[in-house]
Amino acid sequence: MTEGKFANIIIDISHEKVDRPFQYKIPPDLQGRLEAGSCVMVPFGTCNRLRQGYVVEITDKAEYAIEKLKEINSILNDSVSVEADAVKLAAWMKRTYGSTMIAALKTVLPARQVMKPKEKKKITRLMTKEEVTSLLGECIRKNQSAKARLLSQLAAEPVLPYELVTRKLNISAATLRSLQGAGVLSVETESYYRNPVKIETGPEVRNRLSEEQKRISDKVLADYDKGIQGTYLIHGITGSGKTEVYLALIEGMVARGKQCIMLIPEIALTYQTLLRFYKRFGDRVSVMNSTLSAGEKYDQCERAKRGEIDVIIGPRSALFVPFPNLGMIVMDEEHEGSYKSESMPKYHARETAGFLAKIKKASLVLGSATPSLEAYSRAKSGEYELFTLNRRLTGGTLPSVDIIDLREELKNGNRSIFSQKLQELMEERLAKKEQIILFLNRRGYAGFVSCRSCGHVMKCPHCDVSLSQHLGGKMVCHYCGYETRQPDKCPVCSSPYILGFKAGTQQIEEQIHKRFKGARVLRMDADTTRKKESYQEILSAFSEEKADILLGTQMIVKGHDFPGVTLVGILAADLSLNDSDHRCAERTFQLLTQAAGRAGRGERPGEVVIQTYRPDHYSIIKAAAQDYESFYEEEIAYRELAGYPPASHMMAVLIAAKEERAGKELAGEIGAVLKELSEGMEGKDAVQIIGPASASVSKINDIYRFVIYCKHRDYNRLVQCKDRIESFLNETIHKEQSVQFDFDPMDSY
Ligand code: ADP
Ligand code: ZN
Ligand code: ZN
Repeated sequence: MTEGKFANIIIDISHEKVDRPFQYKIPPDLQGRLEAGSCVMVPFGTCNRLRQGYVVEITDKAEYAIEKLKEINSILNDSVSVEADAVKLAAWMKRTYGSTMIAALKTVLPARQVMKPKEKKKITRLMTKEEVTSLLGECIRKNQSAKARLLSQLAAEPVLPYELVTRKLNISAATLRSLQGAGVLSVETESYYRNPVKIETGPEVRNRLSEEQKRISDKVLADYDKGIQGTYLIHGITGSGKTEVYLALIEGMVARGKQCIMLIPEIALTYQTLLRFYKRFGDRVSVMNSTLSAGEKYDQCERAKRGEIDVIIGPRSALFVPFPNLGMIVMDEEHEGSYKSESMPKYHARETAGFLAKIKKASLVLGSATPSLEAYSRAKSGEYELFTLNRRLTGGTLPSVDIIDLREELKNGNRSIFSQKLQELMEERLAKKEQIILFLNRRGYAGFVSCRSCGHVMKCPHCDVSLSQHLGGKMVCHYCGYETRQPDKCPVCSSPYILGFKAGTQQIEEQIHKRFKGARVLRMDADTTRKKESYQEILSAFSEEKADILLGTQMIVKGHDFPGVTLVGILAADLSLNDSDHRCAERTFQLLTQAAGRAGRGERPGEVVIQTYRPDHYSIIKAAAQDYESFYEEEIAYRELAGYPPASHMMAVLIAAKEERAGKELAGEIGAVLKELSEGMEGKDAVQIIGPASASVSKINDIYRFVIYCKHRDYNRLVQCKDRIESFLNETIHKEQSVQFDFDPMDSY
């Protein structure tokens, strides 16, 4: 319970109304009995009719003249509602991550949007399965791959949802019309506005759980029945049967009359995965993702509240679907960076799920092939229960891995991007018509333009980053989108030798064309995936073997199966080790493990070549050996030594300002406030303060950025620091500056 004399109360708790809380006096008999989320009766309006409201904040600061404030009438004690839980969750997020209560409430409450009933289309098979199958054979012979894609799905399922076919399978309207004209299928329209992806599927072919799978599912459900709502971590390589366990667990929960949230990173939410859930749960399951309109999202929340669905699948925001009887939260690929929100409140879905599970008395199940240090250390300490699945159920063997030292290559006179070994293996695969993945371990494209005479680098005038060179003599800023033509002369020394230094995927593609004549290459990077659909298009084209080589950055390693791939080349494994933050070894290990796991998914064994300048680095050696456990031991020792999460906690305070001088000044003031606070704390309890300093990207979009880091083992100490900064900011006026908090950040600033 929170102490304080006044309560800010929202009468109509919805995303649209949270900007207007009303302040009330707390009568003496209710003092100390209220907290955020408490449901109360208050007099409202001119005739003071009693209405129900929710306490969102308790404070000692009156916002109006005290005598004008009305008093809370009474507390509604046993009102446990989804609204009260949402307010509790928002209050926790505000306290834990730092943001305004309004921003936190807006995060947890779905935005209502009036929306017209939409038409929903579905595709129905008009022929028998056999007829479709024979037609499929014909299309494959004629190389009509789009048709083949659709037909093979139709052979398996008599009815398919239109959106999934056009979006995920990437089938054009023209293709559909031609098959419709031929009498293969019909496209029907039904008016709907509720369920965005209602899939009517054929019967499910069920796997019997293996011994190991059954042990997990039995234990978690038995715990639940005993009233133990634990947190469980399933550590298992891709293909080891984790999803099958999730299905069994959710089914168990549904049988108990409970609802479940299934979190999956959006990028891994594939048609195949969705289909498995729809087959098991039919129209009692629904999906949240970024392609839904705000209205559709709102509808999913309404359906959940009314008990029309049992399961919601989606990325981190699916956590806020208001189930009245939540029994379980499952979080697949819990190590994924996308589970951390990038806007205020900068919450992490794992921790937030933990709190939500606590107030809802639900179980929390995490799964990953490469668990985060956070989750694994808690599993080791017994806070989470650990389960391991280490057999791949899909067949296929683990690939053999070679580490190539690029320094040696150079000594031997090989200046190409491809080591001798990789070149040989690529030639061999191309000759055998087997597929290859080449992975450049960097986030986007990064080729800058510089003067060869004076060294001047072309920078974005609005951001503190170099411009990237693009085809056609263009230079682009990847932070703000600024574009300009490449100059003929250096703007500083007028030398004509101003050239692009290309080290990105475009250059590698050129090299492939030079070195391997006739090889068909698909490139996937920030440039080729600007459009929403292009990501899926490239992946489908590759899985249909329309190319020999898939070349790409980090986005190619996630969650896709290409059985035709027998060689994976990792071109510069250590690039991600140069990121300047404490998670770079972890990220490198995860990326390399995932990339290596792409080889040999089919019948034929796979090979992996890891090219690196740092063949001795433990993240590279352990990834090559697919040895998570010993990677973990080395990495956690380093975090302990350096005081990084999860060994210690960290808070980044990011100060942004339109004027450099004003930003610096505010950063200095905040730094001083923090130092004063930490000096007041006892010896070993003092919070370590680093900075203020300019952020590593010191300007974005003409906004200057400064950063201060605070470190302490005890998270609550950092919350104290945050609270102190917040009250300092409340006392002073800062119009043109903003301050954000990021707890246990994923990247450095
Ligand atoms: P993960 O989620 O760990 O990648 P999945 O649950 O997707 O693993 O399982 C991988 C493959 O193995 C899937 O094709 C799935 O149908 C199959 N599978 C899972 N469990 C079993 C089982 N008990 N018996 C047979 N096949 C299984
Ligand atoms: Zn110059
Ligand atoms: Zn810019």
